[in-house]
Amino acid sequence: MGKVTGFLEYERTAPVKEDAKTRLQHYKEFVVSFEKEQVKQEAARCMDCGVPFCQSGCPLGNVIPEFNEAVYKREWELAAGILLSTNNFPEFTGRICPAPCESACVLGINKSPVSIEDIEKHIIEIAFEKGFIKADPPMIRTGKKVAVIGSGPAGLAAAAQLNRAGHEVVVYERDDTPGGLLNYGIPDFKLQKDVVRRRISLMEKEGITFKCNANVGVNIELNTLLRENQSIVLAGGSTVPRDLPVTGRTAQGIHFAMDFLKQQNKRVRNFAIAQEDILATGKDVIVIGGGDTGSDCIGTSNRQGARSVTQFEIMPMPAEKRTDNMPWPTFPMLLKVTSSHEEGCSRAWGVNTKAFLADENNNLRALRIVDVQWDIDANGRPVNFKEVEGTERELPCQLVLLAMGFLYPQKEGLLEKLGVEFDNRGNVKAEEGKYQTNIAKIFTAGDMRRGQSLVVWAISEGREAARKVDEYLMGESRLPTKDGIP
Ligand code: FAD
Repeated sequence: MGKVTGFLEYERTAPVKEDAKTRLQHYKEFVVSFEKEQVKQEAARCMDCGVPFCQSGCPLGNVIPEFNEAVYKREWELAAGILLSTNNFPEFTGRICPAPCESACVLGINKSPVSIEDIEKHIIEIAFEKGFIKADPPMIRTGKKVAVIGSGPAGLAAAAQLNRAGHEVVVYERDDTPGGLLNYGIPDFKLQKDVVRRRISLMEKEGITFKCNANVGVNIELNTLLRENQSIVLAGGSTVPRDLPVTGRTAQGIHFAMDFLKQQNKRVRNFAIAQEDILATGKDVIVIGGGDTGSDCIGTSNRQGARSVTQFEIMPMPAEKRTDNMPWPTFPMLLKVTSSHEEGCSRAWGVNTKAFLADENNNLRALRIVDVQWDIDANGRPVNFKEVEGTERELPCQLVLLAMGFLYPQKEGLLEKLGVEFDNRGNVKAEEGKYQTNIAKIFTAGDMRRGQSLVVWAISEGREAARKVDEYLMGESRLPTKDGIP
């Protein structure tokens, strides 16, 4: 514990953000780093509770009290070592994780939790700055080959760990550059792509090969891959978006969020856009869906110069919950106010879309919506809804972005050709903790297995799956388990 009385003396602080008006002029990250004293004070707020709920709240099992103590003592190399022992990519989670560790922080019961996520970002950025982070290729190679399909956080984490174990790893990515949703999807203002490139380049120096424009099962022959590799990790993500097939769906101006967001990632890098431009400039934009993707559409629309941005969510507005068994305040994801919301938008819950209305040229001109009332079950969950009489109305819009989540991975091509089994939600079937599919040499991790989730879970699954592959190839593994046990 850095400072015994720290949690009594200091209130939570967070790094400063550029004001909304300034940051809307660009697509770069806008969170200014912690000041030296500020990070020390924040780390001093950690109570080192004895039972570190933050650590079990983190899907990676990050050893948070220990790195907080090292930060307080300004032992940066030690802090980075502790952080990297459980998390391959703190520079990603330190920027975009919703920080379940902070929701689990005991200080959060009656004060604001420690700013763990910001501390994490600070540690890893200092470590890069001071030159502590260097390529660390394995000393010994096993002679075994593993193909990782998909270069999102799950594929990257699996590749990093398998390479560490000495296997020869090739990552196949169907996009033109690696990173999965870190690269194409998550906007640059949340995660700049030079941060992703910095990590990929380090992994290349450690001996991992990345093959891009390599769509396995389409332009990469599956049988060759199966023949040449002793194991395969499927980390292709959950990519089939939920649609809204109501009247007027074919009107011009209705797009899936990912098509819109990916284009903007490309524009920021001056990459060519093959399809017709989807732009919010000068338009009344409606975002349907209240999660991270919806929020990213708001930030991007505002930066493009939308006339107005409105976000609808069909679910009711969630309330903060505390129970006798659960003294921590829980803020449901849908209630979260993101930096994009702060930048300006109207937001409404319990709104259903009945139809898209188009003009004579089939261009979208409005949305027909209605308020809905939900029945809540005994566990406080919304179950059925009915329309509220007299609330049906039209709202003018020229662009609608559908951000209602993802159903499951794409089955055609790779997965169907492989013959892997699916679970009852349509994801690739493999038991949590085992990660092995019905085909012995094929493993799976991340959104492709667990359904749409979070970067921190993808990294966690990638690491765990790598250990299982290593055991499968070598009979045992010295890669660390989730509890950090080698
Ligand atoms: P992905 O990141 O989806 O990567 C899968 C990769 O596999 C893709 O690059 C794909 O092209 C490739 N691939 C698929 N099939 C093939 C094939 N046959 N051959 C070759 N390559 C293939 N989570 C957070 O924690 N914080 C956030 O702020 C956040 N924001 C988000 C914003 C958006 C817009 C979206 C869509 C998601 C967001 N998420 C966020 C969720 C998070 O990004 C995902 O949970 C995470 O990226 C899943 O990682 P993954 O590696 O399983 O899959």
